[in-house]
Amino acid sequence: MSILSWLLDLLYPPKCVVCGKLLTVKAPVCPHCLDALPEFDGAAPSVRFTSGGAVSFFYEGKLRESFLRFKFGGSAYYAQTYGAWMAHTICDKLAGTYDVLTWAPVSRARKRKRGYDQAALLCRALGARLGLEPVQTLGKIKDPPAQSTLAGAEQRRANVSGAYRAEQPERFAGKRVLIIDDIVTTGATLAECSRTLLQAGASDVVYAAFAAPRKQD
Ligand SMILES: [Zn+2]
Repeated sequence: MSILSWLLDLLYPPKCVVCGKLLTVKAPVCPHCLDALPEFDGAAPSVRFTSGGAVSFFYEGKLRESFLRFKFGGSAYYAQTYGAWMAHTICDKLAGTYDVLTWAPVSRARKRKRGYDQAALLCRALGARLGLEPVQTLGKIKDPPAQSTLAGAEQRRANVSGAYRAEQPERFAGKRVLIIDDIVTTGATLAECSRTLLQAGASDVVYAAFAAPRKQD
């Protein structure tokens, strides 16, 4: 153990990323939570302008609470654990379908307020596992109300229309892009990102998301 990690353990006793309880094992997640992870086992939601995607988990229970700490509660380091899990899903479901790795960004204003861009963190963490350097291909140029405040699919689509601008198109023109997002609900955000990428020259877009709600039926 390095002195730095020893000091960090002292300052921040390791807690389970999912349930937040103190850990007795040298792992990011307690054995109970690891066993109970709500692995996404259905077909990934179909998202317009993408040719497919993969989702790691159902967005529910303790994992949802964990995610909210990650996104809004400053627990940015969860990205390491989440990213490792997402890399596993991507290897399993999307191997060979992409050339370029990117993410659905938040606006500069949002990033300033929160201190980080959660999808970028996930992308960097899983990229390290996949041996792929993320490329920024999109900028968010409008800052409409958060999608989570809108209920309808149509409202969500209108809300993000024109919200993104392609950046560095020479880095992905003619290439297949894998775009990373955190939660996919109606898919409106990912669809708008993909539309923007295709318009700027991407040959294909697939997505990977950390979690999606379980379909109510
Ligand atoms: Zn736990």
